[in-house]
Amino acid sequence: MFGILEKLLLLQERDEKLHSFLHEINGVPGEKASLQRDLENAQKNLENDKSRATQIEVERKRLEVEADGKRTQIAKYRTQQFETRKNEEFTALKHEIERAEGEIIRVEDRELELMQEFEDLKPVIAAADQKHAAEKSRVSTLMKTADDKVGVLQGRADELRVERDAIAAEVRASDEDLLDLYEKLFRTKMGRAVVPLEGNHCSGCHMTVTPATLRDARVGTSVVSCEQCGRIVYAIPE
Ligand SMILES: [Zn+2]
Repeated sequence: MFGILEKLLLLQERDEKLHSFLHEINGVPGEKASLQRDLENAQKNLENDKSRATQIEVERKRLEVEADGKRTQIAKYRTQQFETRKNEEFTALKHEIERAEGEIIRVEDRELELMQEFEDLKPVIAAADQKHAAEKSRVSTLMKTADDKVGVLQGRADELRVERDAIAAEVRASDEDLLDLYEKLFRTKMGRAVVPLEGNHCSGCHMTVTPATLRDARVGTSVVSCEQCGRIVYAIPE
């Protein structure tokens, strides 16, 4: 294999690595955003449970006040009953008292329901609290790992870029058009610009190359392209 082809293969190897490192680096913000969402969800769950507990307490206090009001009302009715001399009025007050007592029972039943809900909510809040704490620590560790990863990948990518630029400069010095062709192929052919022949097939597009191309590739003194896909092809020495 002649020199410039070896250089192109070396350049392609560096470019492939560089490309894959950059791809990994680009994926990191998405990974971090997803971690952030996990943490926010855990926090939201905890806040929802806590705010339901607060609502229950407020509602219970309101019901207590309501029941106290009814009791005061009943006491007043009893005093009025004691003072009245009219049978009709006495009976009417008796009905009022019964109605208020019925309402107190209804309010107290609701209070009991709320107390039960509050008790049931306690372990739920404790679990949500634990989950939130665990997510916080998991996310913080993984965020740090992600940042470290970017640092390492970026350092390696910078090194690769220096290396590939040096090789590219050597190719350009001997054949500028060839470098342009290679770079265009690398972009358009998913990083497979220079490919070996497999028998008389191009391993990039799997089509048969012409006998002339096959011969030229085997002689190996010029750059040969596949007629079908335009990739630079070379023959692996037998
Ligand atoms: Zn081809």
